[in-house]
Amino acid sequence: MRLIFLGPPGAGKGTQAEIISEEYDFLHVSTGEMLRNEIKNGTELGKKAKKYVNNGELVPDNLVIEILQLRLKESEKHHGIILDGFPRNLKQAESLEKKDILDVDHVLYFKLDKEIIIERLSHRLYCPDCKKFYNLKFNPPKKDNICDKCGRKLVRREDDKLESIKKRLEIYNEKTYPLIDHYKKLNKLIEIDASQTIEEIKGLIEGRINLEKA
Ligand code: AMP
Repeated sequence: MRLIFLGPPGAGKGTQAEIISEEYDFLHVSTGEMLRNEIKNGTELGKKAKKYVNNGELVPDNLVIEILQLRLKESEKHHGIILDGFPRNLKQAESLEKKDILDVDHVLYFKLDKEIIIERLSHRLYCPDCKKFYNLKFNPPKKDNICDKCGRKLVRREDDKLESIKKRLEIYNEKTYPLIDHYKKLNKLIEIDASQTIEEIKGLIEGRINLEKA
């Protein structure tokens, strides 16, 4: 089963991808996470990507496609794949098809209003070690500012500042939103109400797709 999780930043794509990947043995492919790792490790690719990521802009397609293809080599060991944060524009979507990178079964569109997105992102914290996300209002850690999973101090993502959030939303509306129509036409789009709680959204996904199916 090959899935794309599509939707605005802060809609909960990463959180659901993490939960589902663990429970159903999917490979969780987050291009944003891979880019943050490259930046943290100071690799050549990370150096090229840093200014785009920190400003909330899209990293050039060729760099993202390069790391995506490397990561997909690990997919054979898994029951399925979730692409989280890719594709982000029509060219990337077409590259999946034209370059024969991945034949996608379903695209889950996490639908959420702008006001809730800003509210969620401005209360978001992140564990730089195990990469788990928290929300101070809706999904706080058990101990203040400490990761439940690994005990590390939580941080804010560089691009979760109001200016970068606004930029990411602008780019989402201009470049990523048109993908909804693209996948509707291909008859692959499934809409999910992303304003619900984490458990409820998981239930909605499980209700629409048979995740046990290979
Ligand atoms: P995310 O973790 O998905 O919110 O992504 C964080 C940042 O990484 C984005 O704002 C972009 O700068 C970059 N990024 C992630 N995925 C892509 C992609 N598919 N294409 C271009 N840039 C990306």
